Amino acid sequence: MLSERNEIVVQAVAKTRPEPGADLVNWNVPKPGPAEVLIRVSAASICGTDMHIYSWDEWARSRIHVPQILGHEHAGYVESVGSEVHHVQPGDYVTAETHIFCGTCYLCHTGNAHICRNVEILGVDRNGTFAEYLAVPASVVWHADPRLPPKAATVMEPFGNSVHVVMKAAVPAKNVVIIGDGPTGLLAAGVARAAGAAAVWNVGLLDDRLEIAAELGAHKTINASHEDPVALINRLTEGLGADVVLEMSGAEVALQQAVDMVRPGGRVIAFGIPARPLSLNTADLVFKEVELLGLVGRRIFETWHQAERFLPQVDVQRVITDEFPLSGWQEGMDKLLNRKAIKVVLYPGQ
Ligand SMILES: [Zn+2]
Ligand SMILES: [Zn+2]
Repeated sequence: MLSERNEIVVQAVAKTRPEPGADLVNWNVPKPGPAEVLIRVSAASICGTDMHIYSWDEWARSRIHVPQILGHEHAGYVESVGSEVHHVQPGDYVTAETHIFCGTCYLCHTGNAHICRNVEILGVDRNGTFAEYLAVPASVVWHADPRLPPKAATVMEPFGNSVHVVMKAAVPAKNVVIIGDGPTGLLAAGVARAAGAAAVWNVGLLDDRLEIAAELGAHKTINASHEDPVALINRLTEGLGADVVLEMSGAEVALQQAVDMVRPGGRVIAFGIPARPLSLNTADLVFKEVELLGLVGRRIFETWHQAERFLPQVDVQRVITDEFPLSGWQEGMDKLLNRKAIKVVLYPGQ
């Protein structure tokens, strides 16, 4: 166990300057407050959000204050707990919900803590997980499933995104299109299949990723760089369109394509985040009576329970392509930015 923790310095990947890039720096181990938990991070994975912050795009410039440690996905062991914490003990195997909610606003009071008005996101609004130690409020700690190694437990947070989206899409007996070949889109194929979709069709741009979608449960995959996905879905549904389309790419053309390929009265879920505002012909929504629903995060903690129940049917580790010690973070980030990796796991403390 760690003692004299204020004097202990560990390595962290942090944004130190308001410009593209990040640095491996020395960082003091945080001191947890009375209602907080100090976690020794065993594994942390890189998410698209971290790539936005690394690249220092328009969104990151408007939101991030430096210096700040990157990362939010993680799994590890509790090192110590604050004096007010009783449901978590030192040594517990944990991960955490990354949307830190206030617990007192209208949305928290009405069962929507994941869209809390005062939400702080790990690695976005406060120091994140790309460090050997992390302090979080005990209210967001989730006991990780002991069946999972840390590299799989760190993927439970993005897997929860996939579960939340598929649950809100109400997929049983429906034909479901998933646009996007990132980790959440690929994992959504497995969840949709397990949740009873009649057909799962994944649209992406890279064949090696689409093969993983097929392994995870997609009945058919469509490479949008060779084929027009709207025309193909139309053919597959004899001109009717898909019952549900999950837009999980954020690509500029994808939301309009989703509206074009959904059937009248169908549902489109917007989950992918476009790099800039996009145009959408809303007359198409009106005349087809399409439901358009935006979704973010995970329902706290309903989605976490659901995600664990899907584990026997969905191999979450299938999306992990690369693993590095924390000091290898730059290589992992470069591979992700060049789309040569799908999910990169980092090991702080190694
Ligand atoms: Zn994430
Ligand atoms: Zn709140």
